Amino acid sequence: MKWSNLYAPTLREDPAEADAASHRLLVRAGYIRQLQAGHYSLLPLAVRVRTKVMAIVREELDRIGAQEFLTPVMHPAALWQQSGRWDVMGPNLFRLKDRKGAEQALGVTHEEVFTSLGTELRSYKQLPQIWYQFQTKLRDEARPKAGLMRVREFTMKDSYSFDVDEAGLDTAFDAHKRAYHRIFERLGIPVLAADASNGSMSGSGSTEFACPAAAGEDIVMSCPACKYAANTEKATSQLEPIADEPTTDKATAFDTPNVRTINDLVQRFDVPAVQQIKTLVYFLDGELTLVLMRGDHGLVDQKLLDSTGAIDMRPADDAEIVDAMGAHAGSLGAVDVDKYPIIADSSLAGRTNMVTGANRDGQHLRGVDMERDITVSQWADLREVTQGEPCPTCATPLDAVRAIEVGHIFKLGRKYTDAFGVTVLDVNGKEVTPIMGSYGIGVERAIAAAVEVHHDDKGIVWPLSIAPYSVAVVILGKDESVAAVGEDLYERLSNDGIEVLLDDRNERPGAKFADAELVGIPYRVTVSKRGIDSGTAEITNRANGETEVVELSKLAEVIK
Ligand code: ATP
Ligand code: MG
Ligand code: MG
Ligand code: MG
Repeated sequence: MKWSNLYAPTLREDPAEADAASHRLLVRAGYIRQLQAGHYSLLPLAVRVRTKVMAIVREELDRIGAQEFLTPVMHPAALWQQSGRWDVMGPNLFRLKDRKGAEQALGVTHEEVFTSLGTELRSYKQLPQIWYQFQTKLRDEARPKAGLMRVREFTMKDSYSFDVDEAGLDTAFDAHKRAYHRIFERLGIPVLAADASNGSMSGSGSTEFACPAAAGEDIVMSCPACKYAANTEKATSQLEPIADEPTTDKATAFDTPNVRTINDLVQRFDVPAVQQIKTLVYFLDGELTLVLMRGDHGLVDQKLLDSTGAIDMRPADDAEIVDAMGAHAGSLGAVDVDKYPIIADSSLAGRTNMVTGANRDGQHLRGVDMERDITVSQWADLREVTQGEPCPTCATPLDAVRAIEVGHIFKLGRKYTDAFGVTVLDVNGKEVTPIMGSYGIGVERAIAAAVEVHHDDKGIVWPLSIAPYSVAVVILGKDESVAAVGEDLYERLSNDGIEVLLDDRNERPGAKFADAELVGIPYRVTVSKRGIDSGTAEITNRANGETEVVELSKLAEVIK
């Protein structure tokens, strides 16, 4: 590619609205442009990076025997009704009606679609299967932010495994875990594999791949000595459980047809959903006073909210939160449980411990000593582990690390295969329901994470594996013989399979160097009159700034 022909509108100044380095640099270096909040156009350089990221992900998925599909973005509502998630998904799910009035959903994820494809499975002999795709997901995020990091429209590599039994699922899950480690290593993205499962619910697993970065929205508790890492939802200390079975008949706070007791709550969400919707149950003097729900995937059961008159603690609803607590979201406040017996908190991760209940007389408990006065049910986690607390594995003080969730793998269980009636005949000819896993990587978020960890004050520093071009050949001056050597070098390197950007523009050397650095090309080869007179060119490494003088004929070797 010749730079004179490349559409990469670089900006001299940082865009005003961008805080995160990746947002700022991807805009400034001419990779992305915003169409509206949460929706970005990828310009040619970004498309090249995306293609490379996808190629690496694809290679590693293919290596574990996964098969690539491509399924629709638009789904009939009936599909989501069948799994029960039409109601559960809440406002993150884009819903629309077609011209015939048929309700449609835009895929936030594709468990439903892949499980419906699984209904044609017949025999254990066809299992295991791992199916995957790269497909656009649409999520009506409450707060799109930080450029590509949290958008409403993004490409996910999502895979789904089908196995005949738990042991098979363990194998598929572990294969994905290893594949994800290889993928992120090849992408140049350091990750912590953080335990994100709620073990008490089903014993099934969930691991988040979290890239430590200041721009991250998650906090991962990580042990500097051993491999232990857990997201803050998992890394919570349980305070004394008041009972193994806290289904108390005193749970009259829920005087509604749908939800009367904690068990009703749990039954409403089958196991995988409960894993995602963390339920915090507060008891005062043995009496249920307050239930807090915190959802992953932005999951909050809208019907449940409606039927209980619960307050939804998403920051978007701050006015209502203020009404209920007399305080802003995330701050210390007391909730009038007669008015709001249930609080659904989908995005105040790590902050629910700041909400306290009120007793039956409406007497607020603000200031209350939560550890003494409020006991917590079996499911409940009240207090987060904080920086410096001992690692549960090796007792070394834990670090609280800010991180970006770049991937997430789940053991789903049989929720979807049950809902869609997927069965196969096992080795004894008996009908069994296959067990599933689901595994996601956000492609554009991975790009953003790579930039977060690989940049300096001059711009992006791409890892070679995903750089849009490996080399920028920069022609200095207007001498035609220099230009000819540059062109020749460009041809030869390209023929050697090296992706070269030839900076043939009529610009000052300083401007050309600055652009190559901003765009983040790993190597810059500088072709000058003085160099070609001695049969050499300078090659500069973007990452460490070191320059070597190399014979023109040996350049390809140095770059490869
Ligand atoms: P988050 O906690 O950041 O909202 P999530 O837990 O909802 O993410 P998953 O449903 O686990 O995300 O989706 C799998 C992957 O898709 C995530 O690990 C992330 O890499 C990517 N992803 C999710 N939401 C977004 C988004 N809004 N923008 C870009 N990538 C996303
Ligand atoms: Mg998450
Ligand atoms: Mg989410
Ligand atoms: Mg996730």
